[in-house]
Amino acid sequence: MTSLDELPLRPELRGRTPYGAPQLQVTHRLNTNENPHPLPAELLASLGEALGHAALELNRYPDRDAVALRTDLAAYLSRGGDRVEPAQVWAANGSNEVLQQLLQAFGGAGRTALGFTPSYSMHPIISAGTGTGWVDGHRRADFTIDAEAAVAQVREVRPDVVFVTSPNNPTGTAVALETIERLYDATEGVVVVDEAYAEFARTGTPSALGLLPGRARLVVSRTMSKAFGMAGLRLGYLAADPAVVDAVQLVRLPYHLSSLTQAAARAALAHTDALLATVDAVKEQRDRIVAALPSLGLTSVPSDANFVLFGRFADASAAWKALLAHDVLVRDVGIPGWLRVTAGTPAETDAFLTALGEVAPEHR
Ligand code: PMP
Repeated sequence: MTSLDELPLRPELRGRTPYGAPQLQVTHRLNTNENPHPLPAELLASLGEALGHAALELNRYPDRDAVALRTDLAAYLSRGGDRVEPAQVWAANGSNEVLQQLLQAFGGAGRTALGFTPSYSMHPIISAGTGTGWVDGHRRADFTIDAEAAVAQVREVRPDVVFVTSPNNPTGTAVALETIERLYDATEGVVVVDEAYAEFARTGTPSALGLLPGRARLVVSRTMSKAFGMAGLRLGYLAADPAVVDAVQLVRLPYHLSSLTQAAARAALAHTDALLATVDAVKEQRDRIVAALPSLGLTSVPSDANFVLFGRFADASAAWKALLAHDVLVRDVGIPGWLRVTAGTPAETDAFLTALGEVAPEHR
């Protein structure tokens, strides 16, 4: 067996571990923020038809610029009231690929990205993969961002890319638009607002889409993996100034988005209302989890996402194992005292709360 150490690996990748949410055979998988609701039957029928149609042309390369899909995505984003043009939208295989393309274009060797940790663990991993230096930004003990301190840090570090995850993963914390505006004004770099969970936000928590006009270095990234319940599709997208779309086209691989992916995503977008019908139900389960925690002697971080960071445990990893022994898989995100659970169906919430009722007394 050859070990990694024997290969001429890039030095900055040595000693690193790959992204690794465990994919275990557990009855209740509440660890990767997927939407557990089955896709509507009417969508499955359209998908079959759309994929069959696209298959007839599989001997040809797909539309390299995914114009029809970007037009549909722009129409979806415009539903919220902020007009987004197709030329402002770019799509790729999951928002992870969107973020990678952004770092390939705006980060890279000799450049730096900054994000406010704890946040989405892939931001530093994609930075490393693109040779971009990484700086941890600070949060308060309650996981909110102190705008004053964040602005000061950005002024000092002068990063080329600033990540703001809102709602934040793994804490669920939404970031005030005013903080994003101030960060934008404090940097000459690109500000990427990762809004993977935007659709789950509580009312009164606006998207950063409204900040795009007049801010050419601002990027909002979204995904169909969460609210749309289509994590297996691998479709993420961004909205920004058309010049940002020109920039990512310099680094994207030609034909990166297969014709099957484009066809399936368009079919799904045609059923947006049916797909997003589960969002309110998921938010209800999130709020139910939050409400139940105090009676178990536990607490949570206010969440605008489809998951809840809950604690505090004496030893989060021991509590994680104990829940697993009850057939419930949650996520140990490495924050001492805390674990993260995905909100899903009422039955999943029942199973989670029952297991937690057994586990909490011994572990909190
Ligand atoms: N951003 C955040 C904050 C996430 O939590 C995730 C998925 N866990 C992603 C981006 C990537 O999602 P995808 O590649 O499936 O679009």
